[in-house]
Amino acid sequence: MSGQLHVVGGGISGLAAAVLAMRAGWRPVVHEAAPQPGGRCRTVRRGDISHDNGTHVLLSANRATLRLLDAVGAAGRWVEPEPDGLPVLDLESGRLDRVGLSPWSWLRPGSRPMGLAPRDLLRLARIAVLPGRRSVAAAAGDAPGLARMLDLMAVAVLNTTGAAASATLLARVLRRMAMPGGTRLLVARTGLGPDLVQPLADAVMKGGEIRLGRRLRAIEQADGQAVALRFGGGTVQLEAGDRVVLALPPAAAASVLPGLPVPTRFAPIVNLHFPHNGEDPIRFAGITGGIGQWLLVRPGMASVTISAGFEALELPGETLAARVWPEVTATTARLGIGLPGGGPENACVVKERFATPFQDDAQARARRPGRTPLRNLALAGDWTTGLPATIEAAVVAAGQAVQRLGRPATERAGTRMADATA
Ligand SMILES: Cc1cc2nc3c(=O)[nH]c(=O)nc-3n(C[C@H](O)[C@H](O)[C@H](O)COP(=O)(O)OP(=O)(O)OC[C@H]3O[C@@H](n4cnc5c(N)ncnc54)[C@H](O)[C@@H]3O)c2cc1C
Repeated sequence: MSGQLHVVGGGISGLAAAVLAMRAGWRPVVHEAAPQPGGRCRTVRRGDISHDNGTHVLLSANRATLRLLDAVGAAGRWVEPEPDGLPVLDLESGRLDRVGLSPWSWLRPGSRPMGLAPRDLLRLARIAVLPGRRSVAAAAGDAPGLARMLDLMAVAVLNTTGAAASATLLARVLRRMAMPGGTRLLVARTGLGPDLVQPLADAVMKGGEIRLGRRLRAIEQADGQAVALRFGGGTVQLEAGDRVVLALPPAAAASVLPGLPVPTRFAPIVNLHFPHNGEDPIRFAGITGGIGQWLLVRPGMASVTISAGFEALELPGETLAARVWPEVTATTARLGIGLPGGGPENACVVKERFATPFQDDAQARARRPGRTPLRNLALAGDWTTGLPATIEAAVVAAGQAVQRLGRPATERAGTRMADATA
């Protein structure tokens, strides 16, 4: 059939590309190597319990993602657990603060992150506008409170410590956070499967197809175009009107398009999930001075995130769970949350070694792949846009790829005919 869109990779970027392409008139086919879609927004099963591979947070500044969630009827599945400011417990001092997430709120002493002095705000504004080609730590200079806060932010949003993280990338985040209404923190009410991946997959299935267990091995090329997609289980010949969105992680993209510039360094995220019998409403908190950095408590599950977790990656799961559990109980005690039946013994530890590219300055300046040499193929994926590698970047990349490929030939002809008869 002519006018077929093949989306290779069924992570969020690939699913988003398929949903957006349907609006442009395509009937997309998503080819995903794994037995389930979702990519790095994975569901992990341990016995009867499903866990997210890791807590995924969205901000209301993630406009492309929220529009997409709205389009597939899932926006209401993302909830704001801390509308009055983010509780942050410092384990060393025992101090619990409620921190505003909007940089504007830091003008008020009560909402300012711990250690941030009023004079730091001017420097922060300068970094947001003129970050320079340097690390976040270098940009913070000799202001210890600012350096500490920016380090926490760099780890949280760039998955890279301030000593290495790109000030340019963090500045993009700061500018977005300064947008009106951009800093509501949202989490999936139940989990990434039911609240993100399944609604996207359901939307694709309404006008397209998802083929699982289909690993792309090679792209045959001729005259500056992709002419065939060679999958593990067979080859798809491409016809004149066909188009391809390649929504793969960097190494997989480079293996089918040799010579493509891709990130080569990655940073891990480690998550620990502690089942419990508590039924308190959803809460979210920051932790400093310990191993864990974020705590999400849902009915039945408390989940701790360790971003840029190079050391945690090397620790045995039981050791890590035993060390992190006291941080969980210290935090929940201060928030007034009960975790009956919880403990380190039943923890599920998920180590994602290649969670995101390592987002240092060299990476921020690296050549973006942009357009590929193949006229009928566009790239997507969270690493292709120049934004920090997040769900939002994955969705933005999907939108750009679909826009680049245009509408199907039949649709264009139909539109021309409609134009002619108008
Ligand atoms: C633990 C963790 C926590 C995170 N926390 C956050 C967060 O709080 N907020 C946020 O915004 N982002 C977060 N992220 C990042 C976010 O998950 C990613 O940015 C996003 O999922 C990337 O989506 P993608 O589609 O670009 O890539 P991927 O999810 O990697 O999708 C690529 C897909 O391609 C498939 N594939 C690979 N090779 C082939 C092949 N040869 N043929 C066919 N298919 C193939 C893969 O199986 C995969 O499904 C986190 C990531 C992790 C791991």
